[in-house]
Amino acid sequence: MPTLDERFKGGPPTREPADAHAWLSAEERRFILWGLKEQWSALRIGRALGVNEATVRRFRKRFWEEPRLLLELGLYEMVGSVRTPEYRCLVCGEQALGRLATERHVLRHYLEEAVVMATLPEVASNSAHQSQDQEGGEKKLQPRHRVPRRQRRL
Ligand SMILES: [Zn+2]
Repeated sequence: MPTLDERFKGGPPTREPADAHAWLSAEERRFILWGLKEQWSALRIGRALGVNEATVRRFRKRFWEEPRLLLELGLYEMVGSVRTPEYRCLVCGEQALGRLATERHVLRHYLEEAVVMATLPEVASNSAHQSQDQEGGEKKLQPRHRVPRRQRRL
């Protein structure tokens, strides 16, 4: 897949005047993200796209509130094999390792670190937590659910 730079080398996606009030397409959203990466103002991005500056701002506000939206826009691709998956960021072309690391990397282009980590926290490990409950009560650790082993029926 092309990086954002490659994708918009020839300019922004165009829309017909009749579509002036249509929703932003995925391609237009990607162009906005390209423009933000290039530190363009919302006004400049809007003019290039033929949409309102407010439309650009609204999209930005939306992904600030719902960062996962960014991960639905095809901003990274798998470059490794299925056995050893590696991913490449299509915002900057850099290669990161592993899906989670790459998704965080992509979000970091547009969001603060705290937001990135809140959106994509560490995967909870399976290791049992040391019981350090300070809650006074006799709070017992919840037993982990075990998938019952299926009885073999012959
Ligand atoms: Zn990147």
